[in-house]
Formats: sequence, structure tokens, C-alpha cells
Amino acid sequence: MYSKIWLSKPHFEKEDFDVFKETIVSNWVSTVGPNIASFEKSIESVMGGNSKVVALNSGTSAIHLALKLLEIGSGDEVLCQTFTFCATVNPILYCGATPVFIESEKETWNMCPVFLEEAIQDRLKKKCRPKAIVVVDSYGMPAKWDEILAVSRKYGIPVIEDAAAALGSMYKGQMCGTFGEYSILSFNGNKIVTTSSGGVLICKENHDKERAIYLATQAKQEGFIHGEVGYNFRMSNVLAAIGLKQLTVLEKRVQQRRENHFRYQSFITTLGGIELQKEKNSNFYANFWLNCILLDPSLNSKTSVLKEFSKHNIDVRSLWCPLHLQPYLKKTLYYGDHYSQQLFETGLCLPSSSNLTPEEFDRICQVFKTFLK
Ligand SMILES: *Cc1c(COP(=O)(O)O)cnc(C)c1O
Repeated sequence: MYSKIWLSKPHFEKEDFDVFKETIVSNWVSTVGPNIASFEKSIESVMGGNSKVVALNSGTSAIHLALKLLEIGSGDEVLCQTFTFCATVNPILYCGATPVFIESEKETWNMCPVFLEEAIQDRLKKKCRPKAIVVVDSYGMPAKWDEILAVSRKYGIPVIEDAAAALGSMYKGQMCGTFGEYSILSFNGNKIVTTSSGGVLICKENHDKERAIYLATQAKQEGFIHGEVGYNFRMSNVLAAIGLKQLTVLEKRVQQRRENHFRYQSFITTLGGIELQKEKNSNFYANFWLNCILLDPSLNSKTSVLKEFSKHNIDVRSLWCPLHLQPYLKKTLYYGDHYSQQLFETGLCLPSSSNLTPEEFDRICQVFKTFLK
């Protein structure tokens, strides 16, 4: 049996292990230590502008804190992209708020600004004023930020940007992770660079950063006095050290993932019945965290293609099942034309690791050739 080809594998080098060992030996292994602030500074410099970064234990926690900073709680409505991972919406539920799902548009597969405005107008008519809009740069493809932010400004509803998988992606030359009132990144093991697990919240104001750190460290004041319910969300100093090392090769990792994309592009154009997701024009610069394809359903079914890849020990996965169709979210409001259901029914993610070898790439191409003949 061939070795497994993973969808998105962590990419470590010898130096990462050295840094890990050094940090353990330093004794600063908890959520205090010099690497945390250095890691935050590094992300701030990657993001540019006036980004204020808070290092946390996951991207999910970062979304949770963004909602807390917006004082979202029980009875509030939050507009949320439906075509995404469950981690985008779960923090809305942790806060006791109600998600209202918005469909994606066909060019980036991210939140459709037209359905967004339609939803806002309808909610306002029904005397519900949504408190926030959660937009995703899914699979590393930037959303249509000009249009989304125009709607956000028009109605005065703040945006939270879930750029969990989009570190290194840009829209009109601006980094993903800087478009929201609050934005988040993930450093989970499957993302473009990793701290093993981890995330950051990106704010625009210093007082927001200070409050986020306070909430993330059990809302602790002087002398073990706690002002309110806090969280244990801070990043560990050990993981921050790994992250610092990983960030030094971020640009290389983006290039390697983009090279995968162009390799897939030249291979897939030689095949019929498969469409690769691409950047629609030069406004969009994707890190191509994952490469996504749509199958022509009259030629190949998703389940049979998945089966074929799994037989060859290759990790190919379905695109997201839209959240409004998830069993636990079925009773939620939804605005759209069901496009994401079509993405789910015909779409797959292909192995896209930055350390994918030419031999592995050939193995993937061979499987395509067997079922497409
Ligand atoms: C990975 C991911 C998350 C969650 O990040 P964690 O660090 O695993 O909590 C959230 N949203 C999207 C779109 C993701 O890809």
C-alpha cells in the first residue's frame, strides 16, 4: 500500500524542533512568556497598518472573543456565511445568540453581498437588527470585500472576518485578516503555517486588544479578583515559539501552495468534466490553502470519486456541507438561492500541502486519469 497523501499536512523543519526544545528548557511553558508578545508583533508586521493582535489557543476562541467584544449575547441575531466550517458559527451559539445564514456568490464562494443586503432589509422590516456579520475567506479565497464592507457601512453593522485559512491571501493588495472590525486567523496543524493549535484575534484599537487579553486570561485583576466571567483562551508560550519560527517561512509556504495550484491548473485543463476554482481577476490573490474542484455530475458522482481516491490512500474531501443544512442548525433562518448545496453535492478539495512531492502529485493525476477515461 502506498503511504497516505494528506489533504493539508503540517510542514516542519529541523529548526522548529530546536525552538520547541529550547522553549521547554526555558521553563516558560504556560500562557506567559516572551514568545507570546513576539508572535503577536510578527503577525502585526505581516498584517501591516494598525493591526493589534492577540494570540489565543484557537481560531474558534478568537471568533468567540470577537463576538464578546461586540457584546453579543442572548437574543441577538448574527448574520453568518453558510458555506463554511462549523467553527465559524459555533461561537455565535456559545454566546446564546441566533445565527442567520447567508448564501455565497459564485465567484469566490464567499458571502454574497446581494443576499446580505436582502437579509438585512428583511430583518429590519421584522424589527430585528442584526448585531454583526461573520464573513469567511473560505479555502484561502478572499471574499468580495469592497461590496461586503459597503453593505456593512450602509447599515452600520460590524463585520467579523474569519480568515482562519487565508493567511497570506490578499484582496486588492490588502491582507486578509485586516478587513473586519475584528478578524481572526487559525494556526491549527492543517493551516498554511501552524503553532500545532492556535489562533489570533486582530483588532484595530489598543483598548480592544487589552480587553481581549483580559477576557482570555480569566478576567483576572490584581490579587485573584475577577471582574466578570473570563475564559482560558490565551496561547501557550511554547506554541508561540513554534509559530514565530513558522512565520519566517510564510511567504515560501504561500508560493509552494500557489505552485500546487498552477500544477493542478495545467493538469486539469487537459481533462474534461472538472472545473478548478480559480482567482476571478487580479483583485483576488489566494494562498490556495486548499485546491477545490467541481465535478460535472452527469459524468462523475462525488461519492464514486471519493471512493476511488480513498482506495489509493489519498485524502480527498467533500466541500463544506452548508451550515443551514447541518442537522443541529436546521431550524435557522437562511437567505439565498441554495448555490452552496450545489457546491457540496459536486465539489471536492484536493491534497494541497506545501510539502506535497512531485511523486505524490503524479499519483493524484494517475487516479484522475483512471476514472475519467
Ligand atoms: C480552521 C478553521 C476555523 C477554526 O480554527 P481553529 O483554530 O481550528 O479553531 C474556523 N473557520 C475556518 C474557515 C477554518 O478553516
